[in-house]
Amino acid sequence: SAGSARDLVEKLCAPVPDFPLPGIIFRDLTPVFADAAAFRTVIDALIEPFQGTFDVVAGIEARGFLLAAAVGYAAGTGVVTVRKAGKLPRAVHSEAYDLEYGQATLEIHRDAVTPGTRVLLLDDVLATGGTLAAAARLFERGDAEVVGCGVVLELEALAGRGLLPGRRVHALSTL
Ligand code: AMP
Repeated sequence: SAGSARDLVEKLCAPVPDFPLPGIIFRDLTPVFADAAAFRTVIDALIEPFQGTFDVVAGIEARGFLLAAAVGYAAGTGVVTVRKAGKLPRAVHSEAYDLEYGQATLEIHRDAVTPGTRVLLLDDVLATGGTLAAAARLFERGDAEVVGCGVVLELEALAGRGLLPGRRVHALSTL
């Protein structure tokens, strides 16, 4: 239908050639978040396949925060922030991972989850998969259970699911 999450993402996602580097097409989802009907539809569609299976929702800095906050509110769960290195003030778990160019590190507070906590991971775009894979390892180091990953857009040519073997990954749309 014209109001499906996939149709709304396809209509509103803005492709930006050569950002942040030559040869990369940046998929800007901020117009999806700015549209009231699209934002609500996307949040509901992210929850739907995982309804009742998670205790907390984790958003990856920075666009994942927008998704996780709304999902946590709507689903009645807590929200955990997965942050870039050096931002969290207390004891952390850290995971380094490879980007298309260079390296990055993600962190969570060590006490953000207790053993057995069921975690849903959210981000806006699944590209190479390195970001979500590192985030999942962070929670598993705290003996939490990652029940799945939700993304608004999956870039299939980058085969990001290859870094997420055995994980439930739900994408609202694909390119
Ligand atoms: P990756 O670790 O390669 O899966 O990259 C995922 C992260 O980088 C997500 O947080 C995305 O927001 C961002 N990202 C990577 N490639 C793109 C792209 N082409 N357009 C928009 N965001 C991207």
